[in-house]
Amino acid sequence: MRVGEFELIDKIRRRANIGPEIRLGIGDDCSSIVVPPNCELLTSTDLLLEGVHFCLDWTDLRSLGIKSVAVNISDLAAMGARPVSLHLAVGLPANFSDEQVEQYLNGIFAGLDRYKVSLTGGDTCRSGGPLVISVTVQGVCHKDRLIKRDGAVAGDDLWVSGTLGDSGLALRLLQSNKTLPAFLADRHFRPEARAELGEQLGNLGLATAMLDLSDGLSGDLGHLLKVSAVGASVNMDKLPLSNEFLIELRKDQSLLDLAICGGEDYELLFTAHPDKRPCVEQLSEEMNLPLTLIGTITGDQKLQFYKEGNLNYKPENSAFDHFRSTGDSSLE
Ligand code: ADP
Ligand code: MG
Repeated sequence: MRVGEFELIDKIRRRANIGPEIRLGIGDDCSSIVVPPNCELLTSTDLLLEGVHFCLDWTDLRSLGIKSVAVNISDLAAMGARPVSLHLAVGLPANFSDEQVEQYLNGIFAGLDRYKVSLTGGDTCRSGGPLVISVTVQGVCHKDRLIKRDGAVAGDDLWVSGTLGDSGLALRLLQSNKTLPAFLADRHFRPEARAELGEQLGNLGLATAMLDLSDGLSGDLGHLLKVSAVGASVNMDKLPLSNEFLIELRKDQSLLDLAICGGEDYELLFTAHPDKRPCVEQLSEEMNLPLTLIGTITGDQKLQFYKEGNLNYKPENSAFDHFRSTGDSSLE
């Protein structure tokens, strides 16, 4: 890298758009956001480590920039919040070229434009080892409209957005040296956060509990059930699957497990009272985004999957394996 730290920060600053809520952006010791009346400020951070969360042999840097933004925005969407500001901390490997940095930033700014978020700060360092990325996002939500994980009650419907398992399938294909269809490559390398859906669910007060799917439906739903002290019954025949997923599934039925155990879907999983069904269906139509009823919340604190002819479906591999070598998911 020939460009120095301050020159790089200055370049970043010149490209950063500053939205109306931002009082101070890049350039001071802290950024400052004006929070609208009756709103709360929400904050979330994600770490992306080369060799753990991504592999530079597989992803291009622009896509990685897009993904760095999306996976964080997804956490705000999962609370019903509107994203406002983003901080980007990077440890850049010494052998990175100016062009590589530029490509990564192009992806970051494409992501910021997509979600209309301001880049308001960060930190820039050289890394002695691999590429290290830490992104922090902040968003706002009306104080009475926050959707947490602990609000699901027995009898609620269980909904999921989009389609499941595409990213996990992409990873599986990559690991077997297969070429990815464009749709699966997009889903894996350039995921979209369901920002508008999350915000709408927050504004309309439709969901009782919600989270975003990053580690696979089975595990993530488990978190929601635990904190809500309820159980769920999920109909495997109802899981929304893309055409690309179905093509592979026809060749190998065991891939169905990826729809519940594959990671990085970044879809929203939420619960809602059955009375809200017409409203959820209308929202799905208005947003032109599938919202699928996949199950019911139960009172027995158990998570059960069923399928026609198999009332107690057990996934074969419940661990999301990404680049993990230890199989320990507690750190991710
Ligand atoms: P400090 O020494 O106070 O940490 P820095 O020199 O690291 O300040 O950063 C100067 C300004 O540039 C700060 O406002 C910081 O938030 C911002 N900044 C640094 N790196 C980045 C980056 N990668 N992206 C966005 N803003 C950055
Ligand atoms: Mg600093």
